[in-house]
Amino acid sequence: MTEQLLEQLLAGLYEGIAKEAVLINEPLKNHTYTKMGGLADLFLIPSTYEETAFAVRYAYEHELPLTMLGNGSNLVVRDGGIRGIVLSFEKLTDISVEGHELVAQSGAAIIQASRVAYDHALSGLEFACGIPGTIGGALIMNAGAYGGEVKDCLHSATVLTRKGELLNISHEELELGYRSSCFSKKEYIILEGRFLLTEGDPALIKEMMDDLTHKRETKQPLEYPSCGSVFKRPEGYFAGKLIQDSGLQGARIGGAEVSQKHAGFIVNIKDATATDYISLIQHVQETVQEKFGILLEPEVKIIGEELHS
Ligand SMILES: Cc1cc2nc3c(=O)[nH]c(=O)nc-3n(C[C@H](O)[C@H](O)[C@H](O)COP(=O)(O)OP(=O)(O)OC[C@H]3O[C@@H](n4cnc5c(N)ncnc54)[C@H](O)[C@@H]3O)c2cc1C
Repeated sequence: MTEQLLEQLLAGLYEGIAKEAVLINEPLKNHTYTKMGGLADLFLIPSTYEETAFAVRYAYEHELPLTMLGNGSNLVVRDGGIRGIVLSFEKLTDISVEGHELVAQSGAAIIQASRVAYDHALSGLEFACGIPGTIGGALIMNAGAYGGEVKDCLHSATVLTRKGELLNISHEELELGYRSSCFSKKEYIILEGRFLLTEGDPALIKEMMDDLTHKRETKQPLEYPSCGSVFKRPEGYFAGKLIQDSGLQGARIGGAEVSQKHAGFIVNIKDATATDYISLIQHVQETVQEKFGILLEPEVKIIGEELHS
């Protein structure tokens, strides 16, 4: 992007979004759970829905690519970074409860939503107590764990279209399936989700959350940055088991390693670049395919540009 174009874009953006909410050439590794990713041309951190809608309309009208970023816990951002606008939701984190309804803004951590539900003796979000994503990221892919999923308790949502129009999505329109939703299909920008929960016994809710946390702590390599399970579950198999049986645990490229603790995870053990990480994903896919004839499909999204030297 030329200096002149950048200045023009900034002047326009500042008409609807606070100056301090616009960062230029921002390293995305500072905003992703994986601690990887190159620079974003423009990194916007709106504090209100009005600012968010302004940014979305601005991107649409100026034909700028627009990428949404939650906690970056299901994303690998390539080392060449992301052109155009990256929209962060890190200042939209309110969670409120009224009766059985919990409303959470897109940037709120789903772990926090799960804790707030517990504080109000509401059951339904226990499964999410260890998923390190935001509400936006969880809704997009119908996040789930240990038999529970967003689908079970999401009632409705408020979104923006790519043109910046505000829409309320009813329960019937959600189309939540295995790692898919109407939000991903229609490229909506999620502003908030409304969850319908049920009254529960706080002791039982706590017991379940403690149990799930213990399972994660013992089975998952939480001590390193990662993007969780790298691959989708292939029909009739477990990705982690196939990787383990291919002898890949501990395989390493640069700072990326197939976890010794859970073969389904690739961890950033030391300053991994996205190039290391993606090369290791490909190595795992090739090895498993050679050995078992099964192509593992990534669950994580790989976005952004290659680094050009
Ligand atoms: C240790 C670990 C454990 C995990 N365990 C689980 C698990 O048990 N179950 C599970 O399902 N996942 C799990 N994950 C994966 C991940 O945490 C979830 O997929 C989570 O929902 C991603 O949320 P995020 O905010 O990090 O999204 P990001 O990774 O930031 O983004 C994911 C996608 O959502 C889009 N997006 C984000 N916010 C918005 C928005 N507001 N509007 C529109 N699009 C948006 C992004 O553009 C991107 O396409 C795990 C990850 C880790 C690292």
